[in-house]
Amino acid sequence: MYIACPKCDWRPDAQSLWQCTCGHQWNTFQTHGVCPACGKVWKMTACSRYDGCGQWSDHEDWYHDDAAPTVEEFLENPERIVISTPV
Ligand SMILES: [Zn+2]
Ligand SMILES: [Zn+2]
Repeated sequence: MYIACPKCDWRPDAQSLWQCTCGHQWNTFQTHGVCPACGKVWKMTACSRYDGCGQWSDHEDWYHDDAAPTVEEFLENPERIVISTPV
């Protein structure tokens, strides 16, 4: 399982921070979208405005399986499949 923006595939790291309306800053994926300071549940999670697309997506959509894509997914998004070749 990995975490990435469902719209642009930006992947936050452990240092990535989100700010709640209460002013608290934390990594929202460590608490599954719940602000540890005030308890507000963030069903939507914003992408990075600097490294990503800056758009809001459903928090659940950020969680991806590592399983290989199906043939249907490959045919729909062939550019998303990265084939690593030995050097
Ligand atoms: Zn808060
Ligand atoms: Zn994004």
